[in-house]
Amino acid sequence: MKIVVIGTGYVGLVSGTCFAEMGNSVTCVDIDSEKIENLKKGILPIFEPGLETMVKRNLKTQNLCFSTSIKNVLDNSDFAFIAVGTPMGEDGSADLKYVLEVAQTIGTNMNSPLTVVNKSTVPVGTADLVKQTIEKQLKKRKLDIAFSVASNPEFLKEGDAINDFMKPDRVVVGTDDELVSKKMKNLYAPFFRSTSDRFIAMDVRSAEMTKYVANAMLATKISFINEISNICELVGADVNKVRIGIGSDKRIGYSFIYPGSGYGGSCFPKDVKALTKTAEANGYTPKLIHAVEAVNNEQKLVIVHKIINRFGENLSGLEFAIWGLSFKPGTDDMREAPSIYIINELTKKGAKVRAYDPKAINEAKEFYLKDNKNVTYYDSKYSPLKNCDALVLLTEWKEFRAPDFNEIKKELNNAIIFDGRNQYNEEYLAELGFEYYQIGKKFTK
Ligand code: NAD
Repeated sequence: MKIVVIGTGYVGLVSGTCFAEMGNSVTCVDIDSEKIENLKKGILPIFEPGLETMVKRNLKTQNLCFSTSIKNVLDNSDFAFIAVGTPMGEDGSADLKYVLEVAQTIGTNMNSPLTVVNKSTVPVGTADLVKQTIEKQLKKRKLDIAFSVASNPEFLKEGDAINDFMKPDRVVVGTDDELVSKKMKNLYAPFFRSTSDRFIAMDVRSAEMTKYVANAMLATKISFINEISNICELVGADVNKVRIGIGSDKRIGYSFIYPGSGYGGSCFPKDVKALTKTAEANGYTPKLIHAVEAVNNEQKLVIVHKIINRFGENLSGLEFAIWGLSFKPGTDDMREAPSIYIINELTKKGAKVRAYDPKAINEAKEFYLKDNKNVTYYDSKYSPLKNCDALVLLTEWKEFRAPDFNEIKKELNNAIIFDGRNQYNEEYLAELGFEYYQIGKKFTK
């Protein structure tokens, strides 16, 4: 099939490349000309495991092309996927500026029948807006070309995006057109050859809603266990044990109930907020979803409170080594990463920070912590430790899971670890002489 994917961020680039990998002819379009020039040479704007190799392979076979212009690529295409950003607007609702710009460009340039598929995360009713925008352009051009607008929300996870796309748990397609549903099923059939029940067709509004509900549910699980972790700490319980105790119930399960420093990233914060805005715009005040957000905002600073309890309110003269900056392992994405809030709070209180992350240092240095002059960056995990007053773990990258604790102890001023992701064995660290502070378990000597 001939496919155009508009927007080459995490979603557009991964989707386009995976469609090409299955033998489709794909052109990925972006307005960022530097990005496109680099992509043509196989240089990727993001880190995503396995993606670079796949892009290069499909560039070679010419199944995958890149362009800055939609103009000549829409003709005779089967699908145009919209995969541009939908950032949080000023009032917290999803900003549809980029999606509607793309709709307008499609309407201005399409010359043959087309299925427009919205992959961006968009509020209920956006497909109708996209349709109206395209119709308006076609009317201006005095053209009557058949087209349909479907919703196909994306559920990939950064850090495991290729795997998620190639072997999806489910593909949700919202369309009121039986033919479009069939066409979409054909497109996705190679991705689930063993079973077809992973293709879930529904009406457009339900599909648009499904994406927000999935993210809100996951964020709710995280905020729930984080709230429980704070209660555990007060009553002398260990949230790590409570987690195992509840997860063993099949109705609850183990996934997404890890206590930590809160959720971040480009999706959960903005999607949770956008869902509250949609509810409010329709006259409903969501109590639970508001609370999910409030708990998360406070949770980001729990580790800072632990540091203050140990060292005092004024952190001047102290230096902390930070392991992990990205909002989760496996990605260089720093959007809404808890590390940003934690580091800024530590330096506001007078501390200096030495940071190491396997992939996100450039993002931090050039964008997200650019204005914070009290942060220095290191290129390996042990190098920032010398004479630091404590180690603070913020992202659970694999390389931090089993470090050489003797080396850490030798380098630090004090054998102290603050663990924002509960990665280590408390008894073992106690035997080695560490003060080990974790989430949801009171430190006792
Ligand atoms: P991103 O910000 O990484 O990339 C968006 C891209 O769109 C950018 O390269 C930008 O230059 C391009 N763009 C903007 N306007 C354009 C235009 N008019 N024409 C062509 N290109 C244009 O975004 P992302 O993280 O890939 O997310 C895209 C959408 O998918 C969002 O709605 C997001 O919520 C959703 N989503 C993201 C993830 C994720 O893990 N990142 C997962 C599922 C869904």
